[in-house]
Amino acid sequence: MNTQPPILQAEALTRHYPVRRGWFKSPAVVKALNGVSFSLARGRTLAVVGESGCGKSTLARQLTMIEPPTSGRLLIEGVDVVDVATRSTHIDPELRRRVQIVFQNPHASLNPRNTIAESLHEPLLINTRLTAAERRERIEAMLERVGLRPEHAQRYPHMLSGGQCQRVAIARAMILDPAIVVADEPVSALDVSIQAQILNLFMDIQESDGASFVFISHNLGVVEHIAHDLLVMYLGSVVEYGSKQAIFAAPLHPYTRVLMSASLAIRREDRRERIRIAGELPSPLNPPSGCTFHTRCPFAAERCRREVPLLRQVADRQVACHIVTA
Ligand code: SF4
Repeated sequence: MNTQPPILQAEALTRHYPVRRGWFKSPAVVKALNGVSFSLARGRTLAVVGESGCGKSTLARQLTMIEPPTSGRLLIEGVDVVDVATRSTHIDPELRRRVQIVFQNPHASLNPRNTIAESLHEPLLINTRLTAAERRERIEAMLERVGLRPEHAQRYPHMLSGGQCQRVAIARAMILDPAIVVADEPVSALDVSIQAQILNLFMDIQESDGASFVFISHNLGVVEHIAHDLLVMYLGSVVEYGSKQAIFAAPLHPYTRVLMSASLAIRREDRRERIRIAGELPSPLNPPSGCTFHTRCPFAAERCRREVPLLRQVADRQVACHIVTA
């Protein structure tokens, strides 16, 4: 793990949503995020992985301050952005500017009525005091940086391919020079042939700018390419957290092993034991008792049904499982 001071720190972030269940029933609570903690160092990429519904996108909304956590602390460049009294996130424009997001669907994330130049112009107009000439210059430089030509500036999103649109979305995220970019499944809607180009673009930008990324993905092949550290989530909780190198070399949590064996076993060099699980991810409205993975875990024992496993240090990473030992 990196020893630099963290640029982003999440401490026991929780997000619960009350939901109504009809006139005669008490409201239920969807436990989307349950005490997620991690830190991200400058110039590093933390990948967050897990099945759909594991809480990855809820986490993205907390980190980008789109919505406040129910409890926990979020520190951005050392500043606690969660107001404990009101449970709201401070709307400090400068701090907001330091965290940007890239969404999964590049076409949906751009205004179809705006040209590419207009889409890039808007954040500069709102957040900076640059002159018109300086804004134009910054837009041209940014388009070139993400591999687009000057003539793309006057086109509309529907005139671009998915890969080109995602380049625009990355340009829009980077144009305010953020410290942290949260990328929520940024390549999963793209053709496989384009995915590697976009991943390389993220890595080039990180190398030149020192930006830090939280890269959310369900695809371990993608994560292996881009991440420094890995946070594996199951039903709103972290089950394994450590360096990508350590976890890919020897995943310890049964769920991480399942994910790895499902997505990497097709590679010829990856002949590690295959572990399969049955069934769907349980509902966060009614999570299983004890270890929430026990209903699908091939190693579940009686203790797993009763006792919640705490995230604890095991050798070079953190793992939440009763049976894992160093
Ligand atoms: Fe499986 Fe038990 Fe470990 Fe949970 S605590 S992952 S059920 S062995």
